[in-house]
Amino acid sequence: MKDVVIIGGGASGLMAAIIVKSKVQDQANVTILERLEKVGKKILVTGNGRCNFTNKHVSENKYNNPSFVKPILKQFNVSKTLEFFNSIGLLYRMDEAGRYYPLSENANSVLDVLRNEAKRLGIVERVNFDVNRIYKNNDRFAIESKNRLVQEADYVVVAAGGKAVPVHGSNGSGFNLLKKQKMKITDCFPGLTGVIVDEGQVKGLSGLRMKAKVNLYLKKTFKKDKKEAIWTEDGEVQFKEKGLSGIVVMQLQSQIARKYSPKEVKISLDLIPHMTEEEIVDHLERRLAHIGNEEVENFLTGMFHKMLVRNILKQRCKIQLDGYTKDLTKKDLNKIASAIKEFDFDVKGYYDFDRAQVTVGGLDVKEVVQETLEARKVSRLYVCGEVLNVDGECGGFNLQWAWSSGYVVGNAIAKRIIDNA
Ligand SMILES: Cc1cc2nc3c(=O)[nH]c(=O)nc-3n(C[C@H](O)[C@H](O)[C@H](O)COP(=O)(O)OP(=O)(O)OC[C@H]3O[C@@H](n4cnc5c(N)ncnc54)[C@H](O)[C@@H]3O)c2cc1C
Repeated sequence: MKDVVIIGGGASGLMAAIIVKSKVQDQANVTILERLEKVGKKILVTGNGRCNFTNKHVSENKYNNPSFVKPILKQFNVSKTLEFFNSIGLLYRMDEAGRYYPLSENANSVLDVLRNEAKRLGIVERVNFDVNRIYKNNDRFAIESKNRLVQEADYVVVAAGGKAVPVHGSNGSGFNLLKKQKMKITDCFPGLTGVIVDEGQVKGLSGLRMKAKVNLYLKKTFKKDKKEAIWTEDGEVQFKEKGLSGIVVMQLQSQIARKYSPKEVKISLDLIPHMTEEEIVDHLERRLAHIGNEEVENFLTGMFHKMLVRNILKQRCKIQLDGYTKDLTKKDLNKIASAIKEFDFDVKGYYDFDRAQVTVGGLDVKEVVQETLEARKVSRLYVCGEVLNVDGECGGFNLQWAWSSGYVVGNAIAKRIIDNA
């Protein structure tokens, strides 16, 4: 009888535990060690409490490390994931963007079916067990908690997550466990979170939401008529007191965290993507002719929310709001049109791990064998989920990584136990 111990009862750990136990049955004990008082706490907050657990459009290109994730996603792809969840009782539905949610629209359903299956299989959950050290004791592993409890194992899986939202359990301690095994952890940054921008540029906009085309530029190439965006998204931007948020901004932020320093980039919104700058100038000229002499503040009425009108005119174009439209020049109209097409922001940074959905960075993927996710340096130690340097876009891709990598690890350990039996 072998002992398999999973460190971390999150999405990937639960999946690894269920797969290995369902395959080896009474050839192994499977125990999940969880530092919190309950497993799966983070699953409950995913997708705003609805748990967007996968996506029809999963492909390797949705991740930072496409060539590494490709064969792992292939072993346990979206249809196998849906089949698996269906087999353990979950009904689900897909939205117009290809995102899958439980039919109940409640993340509890996802956690409950996983826990019920784990219980049915006889998997043991050992909670309030905060793993602090892994060491070899003869040929077995000894896994020690902060308060010196020890659990022994023949196979150990580190599924402790990254650093995102520590109150839900993943506080970076998985990285420390692996560092102590002399494995390389890359630099880590918050991912899928909001960006902090120059306060003056966002002045008076807090609370506003608006659809826009959002472009990410390198500052050094941000020159008129020569710009080439390094990333573009279309969708709703949420303006905050000191920054920008919303899914499209979070996607851009992950791109920044993966490759650039915030100081190197600029975010620019196209507030009317379906009109060219010239068409906007034409529109403004016609509008000016129509309204005659009005207070400047009323000039853009009908185009944008008042908060945005004030920001465009005062902050961006330095036009006094208590002035009159008769004083607007062609140059002013050009400036307004240009501010609408290039509503740009200097990025000062981004929110911290408390408000991030994922960790950008983690265990260097070269530390594991790609087919099995076994550590190259420590035989019978496996790694899955966000603790690896894999992060995906927003929309169910990160949980899919947790399911696929958890499956691969569970399957690899089961095969080894069965082959050696
Ligand atoms: C607010 C929010 C919303 C999200 N929404 C979505 C979404 O809708 N769709 C999507 O695909 N992804 C979403 N994500 C991302 C997704 O939740 C994660 O990528 C995924 O949960 C990672 O799974 P994991 O098993 O690797 O780690 P985690 O889920 O973080 O689980 C790790 C577990 O290990 C435990 N642990 C950590 N250290 C130790 C230790 N030393 N000893 C014992 N136990 C330990 C933790 O307590 C935790 O239970 C969201 C994330 C957040 C924060």
